[in-house]
Amino acid sequence: MELKTGQYDVVIVGAGPAGCACALSLKDSGLKVAMLDKSTFPRDKVCGDAIPGRAIKTLTSISHEYGSAFKKFAEKFDTKSTSIHYKGNVLTFEWVADAYTCTRIEFDNFLFSLVKEHTATDIFTDTLPHSFSTNGASISISFKNKPDIFNTKIVIGADGAQSTVAKQLTGRILDRDHHVGSVRAYYYNVAGMEGSKTEIYFDRKFLPSYLWVFPLPGNVANVGFGMLSSEIARRKINLKTAFHEFIAENPLLKEKFAAARQIGLLEGFGLPLGSGITTLSGQNFMLVGDAASLIDPISGDGIGNAMLSGKLAAAQAIRCFTENNFSDTFMSGYDATLLTAIGQELKARYRAQRSLSKMPWLLDMIFFAGRNKALKRIIQKML
Ligand SMILES: Cc1cc2nc3c(=O)[nH]c(=O)nc-3n(C[C@H](O)[C@H](O)[C@H](O)COP(=O)(O)OP(=O)(O)OC[C@H]3O[C@@H](n4cnc5c(N)ncnc54)[C@H](O)[C@@H]3O)c2cc1C
Repeated sequence: MELKTGQYDVVIVGAGPAGCACALSLKDSGLKVAMLDKSTFPRDKVCGDAIPGRAIKTLTSISHEYGSAFKKFAEKFDTKSTSIHYKGNVLTFEWVADAYTCTRIEFDNFLFSLVKEHTATDIFTDTLPHSFSTNGASISISFKNKPDIFNTKIVIGADGAQSTVAKQLTGRILDRDHHVGSVRAYYYNVAGMEGSKTEIYFDRKFLPSYLWVFPLPGNVANVGFGMLSSEIARRKINLKTAFHEFIAENPLLKEKFAAARQIGLLEGFGLPLGSGITTLSGQNFMLVGDAASLIDPISGDGIGNAMLSGKLAAAQAIRCFTENNFSDTFMSGYDATLLTAIGQELKARYRAQRSLSKMPWLLDMIFFAGRNKALKRIIQKML
């Protein structure tokens, strides 16, 4: 679609899971909505490609039709279990809730297509915002690669981990204590993969970080490794070197990867964790997904929280128009609903992450306790 100078009620910046969930949730609102993205779709996003149950639960809560469309979607695996490996021991957890693996190029394009097909959202791809200027009543957006200006009552910042919206409207800077640096590559023909089982590997040398091996259709695996950014700096770790060392020095992984072939590049990207204090909204704007730093500090899952926050931001936008109130105080109703939904969970997960960082021997205890069925169930609840 050609870019035009526009007056919108809501402009969603970013068309990933958070932005798309928001656009889908605004479908019947009667509001004039634009969604823009710097990329063209389909586009990749560096990720582990594990689609958490919360993502599909949120999609289904927006519309059963969308949820069932995903369940029929062919390009995915159902995740039924996860095996965790440490010092030659293995703990396997069986899952009852829906969870999947699906490449982000497929999953995000699926969501993007739902917005295109089912909503009246004006969609602009290959569109890079330059500045967001507020005049107290609305926000004007200018672009780096287009001459036009958008004016809107509400900006939803859904532009991911390096959010321009968050930087410009809240002065956000990277907080290394609440941010993970990570690398990920695809591999073909990793031995012993089961489509329904994801695998996690711990190694004494890199504790409390872990390497994941997640199966994907086509005998492909998503393999990645991440570490708290403050630890990377303190220990002077080169993540790409550490990734290859992890595989080469772990006897089980060495065997698994003996006949495997890397597809494409080993790529790096950041994970803003939901463990620090960040601004979630202000006058005429809200932040959702990675732009709001909502990633689970233990599992690294962010897609579910991204979609949930997109949905909750849409509900707040509708309340703003109903009350004709776009003030920071009123907008903080979004913060309240979001924190009620996931605030306690994020705090508990952060405490668990800190404990494991300070006391890596806890992992030995977890493996020991995991032999007992009742204790294993308690551990499973923490995962
Ligand atoms: C290595 C790694 C592994 C991960 N593994 C998992 C996993 O297995 N499961 C899981 O649930 N989560 C995982 N995550 C986290 C997950 O990727 C994110 O939480 C999730 O993508 C957040 O969705 P989002 O919509 O907020 O942002 P994104 O998915 O990043 O989407 C943001 C969108 O905004 C666009 N954009 C960016 N900047 C601009 C701009 N300035 N202007 C316009 N558009 C812009 C981008 O093109 C993109 O389309 C992982 C993250 C990493 C880095």
